[in-house]
Amino acid sequence: MTDRNKAGSSKAPLVLRDGLSRRDFLKLTGGLTAAAAVGSAPAAAQAGVQTRARIVVLGGGAAGLTVAARLRDLLDGARITVVEPSETHHYQPGWTLVAAGTYSVSDVTARNEHYIPRGVDWKKDYVAAVDPESQVVETAGGDRLDYDFLVVATGIHLDYEAIEGLERADIGQNGLTSIYAGPEQARHAYEQTQRLGEQGGVARFNIPNTPIKCAGAPIKATLIAEDLLRKAGQRDRVEFHYHAPEGALFSVERFDGMVRDIYGERGVGIESGSVLQGVEPELRRATFVDGDGNRETVDYDYLHVVPPMRAHDWVREAGLAVEDGSLAEGGWLAVDDQTLQHARYPNVFGAGDVVDTAIGKTASTVRAHGSVTPDNLVSVLQDREPQQRFDGYTSCPLITEVGKAALVEFDYTLEEVPTFGFIDQGQPSWMWWRLKVHMIKPLYYNMLRGRYLR
Ligand SMILES: Cc1cc2nc3c(=O)[nH]c(=O)nc-3n(C[C@H](O)[C@H](O)[C@H](O)COP(=O)(O)OP(=O)(O)OC[C@H]3O[C@@H](n4cnc5c(N)ncnc54)[C@H](O)[C@@H]3O)c2cc1C
Repeated sequence: MTDRNKAGSSKAPLVLRDGLSRRDFLKLTGGLTAAAAVGSAPAAAQAGVQTRARIVVLGGGAAGLTVAARLRDLLDGARITVVEPSETHHYQPGWTLVAAGTYSVSDVTARNEHYIPRGVDWKKDYVAAVDPESQVVETAGGDRLDYDFLVVATGIHLDYEAIEGLERADIGQNGLTSIYAGPEQARHAYEQTQRLGEQGGVARFNIPNTPIKCAGAPIKATLIAEDLLRKAGQRDRVEFHYHAPEGALFSVERFDGMVRDIYGERGVGIESGSVLQGVEPELRRATFVDGDGNRETVDYDYLHVVPPMRAHDWVREAGLAVEDGSLAEGGWLAVDDQTLQHARYPNVFGAGDVVDTAIGKTASTVRAHGSVTPDNLVSVLQDREPQQRFDGYTSCPLITEVGKAALVEFDYTLEEVPTFGFIDQGQPSWMWWRLKVHMIKPLYYNMLRGRYLR
């Protein structure tokens, strides 16, 4: 890991405004592991539940690997298979730090072979179809996997192509960038920001009108770019615009206000009721639409795209998607929002971004899903009712500049649920930045092994 910006180096203040010293910080972060353990799901018992059940986990990203690891620990004799096509594991929460120039691409890239739990089969393929009535998964390669229990953890489809004129391959050229597209593209965002500073121009950022993973990331992308230019003495050469649908910029009222204040102080114009509809990459023009359907086409030199997001098509085709309400259009997996058990098929569970909750699409949420989903599956396997309840836990360090972040944690009530109640986590501080840069990644990789679950 590289920390090229040297946040919290010897030049950082020794005592924070809130009176917390470096020594306190070290105690605090040193205690994080303990805090994580305190809030942890109970460790699996020595002797697991005896079973011959066939369990198929679809997707081997953050949620799929975590659930598979926990199931392996809870059960004895189960045949667990993870269906995951990719050899590479992406630490996506680190992509904002790649865009900040703090992490390199290799800092956020790992090999799945190191995280597929021992004793679990890895089917290196895509799921193509599921028949929940006959309990069969079909893979793109033509294999059939029979299951007794199914866990759906295939994450989110980034729908770049839903934006007229845009193809995913356009990202990384002509001033078009998107940290959501992958680590290389996040690296491109960093380089493109440097170029913008040298040449000057208009920078535009958007947030779509669908649920998205890490709803703080579009804000982070904006504030990181603004900060890099400010610190390089190039800020006055660039106009900043943030295009957002009507309504709040962030679902928690306090942080919505905080972001608006910071945007105001730093000259980021908020274009409210403005949804990205189309792009002409060669001409560097973008079209936005308002709530009444009025279209406006504007120029840009730099466009950071956050695409509409939804579940992968096969979820709907399998009859597993939510059918009513505001989330139906996205084809998200229909689950009970507390037990994460499927709304219609009791032997099917969900975990991670794919489930039909509007919030809770973060890796931190997976710390909670990683115990709720497997523990409830094991209850059902034992003919008991699901016991565990997911409370909507959602969290991310909201980076406000390179070197500072607020530690945002909330649940279904949209009220804050701070881990460190004795300090104001919502106050941007170098502490939460250091937590983000140095501590969250090891926690994440431990989570993939079924440790430090919430
Ligand atoms: C830019 C960015 C910044 C973020 N910042 C934060 C942050 O600061 N804090 C935080 O907590 N979270 C953050 N997140 C969100 C976090 O990364 C996700 O919420 C988390 O990865 C969700 O885990 P998942 O397993 O549901 O999805 P993923 O980790 O995306 O995994 C889904 C897996 O399913 C596989 N898959 C897809 N289709 C198929 C198929 N047909 N068959 C089989 N497998 C398939 C994929 O290959 C992938 O491995 C960020 C995400 C991004 C993109």
